[in-house]
Amino acid sequence: MSARDELLQRFLDAASRGDVEMVLALMSQSGELMDRSGEQGWTALMLAARNGHIHVAKVLLSHGCSTSGTNRSGQTAADVAQFWGHRHIARLLASGHHPDLRQLLPSGAADEPDTYFNREILDRKSDRRSDSDWLSAKLASPESVFLLFHQLNPLVRAGAGEGSGVGEGSGAGEGSADTRLCRLRAPAVQPLLKDTHTTLVFLGVEKRENRENRETGDGMQAWFALDTEDDPTELLEAEDPGSGRFFLPGAMPGLLRLSDDDAGVVAQARSVLAWHSRYRFCPTCGSSTKAEEGGYKRTCLRAGCRSLQGVHNTCYPRVDPVVIMLVLHPDGNQCLLGRKKIFPPGMFSCLAGFVEPGEALEAAVRREVMEESGVQVGPVQYLSSQAWPMPSCLMIGCHCVALTTDITADESEIEEARWFTRQQVIDALVKDKRAVFSMPPRQAIAHLLLKHWTGFNANL
Ligand code: ZN
Ligand code: MG
Repeated sequence: MSARDELLQRFLDAASRGDVEMVLALMSQSGELMDRSGEQGWTALMLAARNGHIHVAKVLLSHGCSTSGTNRSGQTAADVAQFWGHRHIARLLASGHHPDLRQLLPSGAADEPDTYFNREILDRKSDRRSDSDWLSAKLASPESVFLLFHQLNPLVRAGAGEGSGVGEGSGAGEGSADTRLCRLRAPAVQPLLKDTHTTLVFLGVEKRENRENRETGDGMQAWFALDTEDDPTELLEAEDPGSGRFFLPGAMPGLLRLSDDDAGVVAQARSVLAWHSRYRFCPTCGSSTKAEEGGYKRTCLRAGCRSLQGVHNTCYPRVDPVVIMLVLHPDGNQCLLGRKKIFPPGMFSCLAGFVEPGEALEAAVRREVMEESGVQVGPVQYLSSQAWPMPSCLMIGCHCVALTTDITADESEIEEARWFTRQQVIDALVKDKRAVFSMPPRQAIAHLLLKHWTGFNANL
């Protein structure tokens, strides 16, 4: 008998006898033992199921052991447990998951969080996008609000440090909403509206209106976003000299300086404007296109183009799904965080990556964690999502539990990946002097994933 076969024999024997320690010890020598079968195609899981050893079954499952294999009689481990009357094991196996690992996931979904970039102060009124008479009237209305962008950077005014409720109740606030979006009126933007290098998007109407009908019409205050290619600074200066307005760099961390209300509007406006600036021509045939439906569609101008028949994802603003996940250690007390070179010194955050075509969220989570850290992931649980307008991502926040713990960081993407204890995360969250790393900013969903896992709230 080869040494490998002998090891397998000892392993199967330990599983049959219910010797958890021996099962664990032998698995640590060789990870591939778990799903190997011996005589008559029986695996360790089947033998544990045959003899009613639920602790062995749990250990095997928590290491990612397959439940679907069959022996030479065509029975799965669950069939074996059922046949021999070990119903608790049959139930455990039939659930198809790793119940003990699932228990490590934070219980209960969060209340839908009012996260940065997610607040909606506008009703998008998509039914008005194709109503060109209504839109023209609103473009001329003195009530309407215009947000101006220059090359995707929003026009803002520095405030006198006035807070807008941002950072409230968060022990780890970053930034203080010292920057306000400029709300321009129709006369100020007329010259820009006539310029062919200006992109216009209808954003919606103000939600929180207790406005009575005004003489100008239906009482709905419309909001628009404009993006200019040419620098409009001179024009603005002429219109309102010395106003202290400037274009806020539309990237990290500049965009995190807005109030939650303004951030929500920018998330919508900047994503759609960014799409226009990058998709000027028809992706199907390369011809010119024209913007329609209040800036929510681009239509090819070449008669007979394939994009004109049926519904195509080339004609509408794109959204790119990204999974971002907090990986929990199988001991339930540590989590995996990584560092990119571009992060500020000391900062670690959740791993993340784009969902690929034809991929479910769970598969994307498992693939990205494996690629970036070499860690194998079992159960995955969705928590919440966040728009991230740089340029147009949807961050899908998940918790998941690791099946393996050895880290091999993919150095092209990640400078370093490490397990951190719950205490270390709490220290970072409250910015304790013992903190060994710094948290991602409170505006990022990674912050929420970490905070939710620790169960930390301001009242603790
Ligand atoms: Zn075309
Ligand atoms: Mg990646």
